[in-house]
Amino acid sequence: MTVRMRHTKSHTGRRRSHHSLKKAVLPLCAKCGEKKFPHRVCKNCGTYKKKSILDVLKKLTKKERKKKEKDLAEKEKEQTKGKELSAEELSKK
Ligand SMILES: [Zn+2]
Repeated sequence: MTVRMRHTKSHTGRRRSHHSLKKAVLPLCAKCGEKKFPHRVCKNCGTYKKKSILDVLKKLTKKERKKKEKDLAEKEKEQTKGKELSAEELSKK
């Protein structure tokens, strides 16, 4: 091996300062507002392009299903509330 130029701990540290990974920025689902991968069906509610494609509740037990149905209904309510609020704010302005 060739003898490379002298490098110090400082040089090594400065080079490695760029090695950290950045957190991925994922888009939010239009229906449930959960983070999802782009161009893929939402794993939380099973929709893609505002159409329901997967039956998310099919594989769950009865207890889990009830809980999930409740969660999804709550999230939809929250989203409609948000839309109403934004519309009101716009009308004020
Ligand atoms: Zn979703």
